[in-house]
Amino acid sequence: MIAVLKQGTTEKQLENLSSWLRTQGLDVHISKGSAHTVVGLIGDTSKIDEELLESLDIVDSVKRISEPFKSANRKFHPDDSIIKVANTSVGGDSFTIIAGPCSVESEAQVMEIAKSVKRSGATMLRGGAFKPRTSPYDFQGLKADGIEILLEAKKETGLPIVTEIMNANHLPLFEKVDVIQVGARNMQNFELLKELGKTNKTILLKRGLANTLKEFLMSAEYIMAGGNENIILCERGIRTFETYTRNTLDLSAVPMLKELTHLPIIIDPSHATGVARLVKPMAMAAAACGADGLMIEVHNDPKHALCDGAQSLTPEAFDDVTRAVRRILMAVKEL
Ligand code: PEP
Ligand code: MN
Repeated sequence: MIAVLKQGTTEKQLENLSSWLRTQGLDVHISKGSAHTVVGLIGDTSKIDEELLESLDIVDSVKRISEPFKSANRKFHPDDSIIKVANTSVGGDSFTIIAGPCSVESEAQVMEIAKSVKRSGATMLRGGAFKPRTSPYDFQGLKADGIEILLEAKKETGLPIVTEIMNANHLPLFEKVDVIQVGARNMQNFELLKELGKTNKTILLKRGLANTLKEFLMSAEYIMAGGNENIILCERGIRTFETYTRNTLDLSAVPMLKELTHLPIIIDPSHATGVARLVKPMAMAAAACGADGLMIEVHNDPKHALCDGAQSLTPEAFDDVTRAVRRILMAVKEL
C-alpha cells in the first residue's frame, strides 16, 4: 500500500504518520520525489483502514500495490533511483559503461585492459575473480589474488571495480570492491541475497538464465528487504531454443522494467550473444531503448582468453562500440 502525501506536508507531520504506521507493525518506506512524497507500507496492510488513512489532512491518495515487489516498485519510488558508485553514478541521466575481461588472469592483463577501456570512456572496470564455470575442470578464477589485482588497477586508473561474489563467506574479501556482482546463476540464491541485503554495498544483480522479470524483481526485493537499496539490474540474455546465439537478449525487458521499477537497468550484450561481432549492434540497440548502461567483456588477446574469448572485444573494437553508442545516445536525446 502507498499513501501519496499532499504538497506542503511538514517533516513533523510525516514523522507522526510514519510512527503511527510503525506502531501498526508495518515497515515504512519514504520516497521524497520531485513531485510528491510517497509513503510505502510494507507488511500486513490488511488491518489498515484505507478510508481512514485517505481522510487524513496530509494524505492526497491511497493505493494498494498488487505486485509482490514493494521496495523495488516504481509506485513506491516514482523517480528513477540514482546509485552512487565512488566518483560516478548509475541511473538518471548517466550512461554507465562497465568494461573488462571475463576473468582476471594476471596483473599485466588487467592493467593493460583497464587503461585502454578508460581511454575509450568506460566508467567502471569489471573482471571475475571467482568464476562460476559450467565445468569444474575449467579455470575457476584467481580468487582473492584477482580482487587484489583489480584494486591495483583501480589505484592506477581511478575506475571503480565490479566483481562477482559466489559465497557470502567471501564478503570480507569484497570490502574495498565498489560493486558486487551477483551472477545469473546465483540470482535466486536467496541466502546470498539476504546477506547482501545487510551490507551497504552496491549490488549488480544479473537476471537468471530462465527467470521472469517478476522473479528478477523479487530477487532485488530480497536485497532491499534487508535495507540495502543500492541495486543495479542487468539483463544478460535468457535461454531460448535458439542456438546461434549463446542466449537471447530480451531488450523488451528495458522498457518493461522502466515501468515496473525505479532501479537502473543495464545490458550485457557479451553474455547475451556470446559472439563478439554481435556486441556492437546489441549495445547500440540497448542505448536506443533506454538502458542506463552496458557491461561489455574486453580482452587484450581474446583468442587466448581463459574464459569467454569468443564474445570478448579487443580494445580497438570496444573503442568503436563506445563511439557508436555515444552517437546513438545523442540521437535519442534529440528525439
Ligand atoms: C560474468 O559477468 O562474468 C558472468 C559470469 O555473467 P552471467 O552471470 O551473466 O553468466
Ligand atoms: Mn564472461
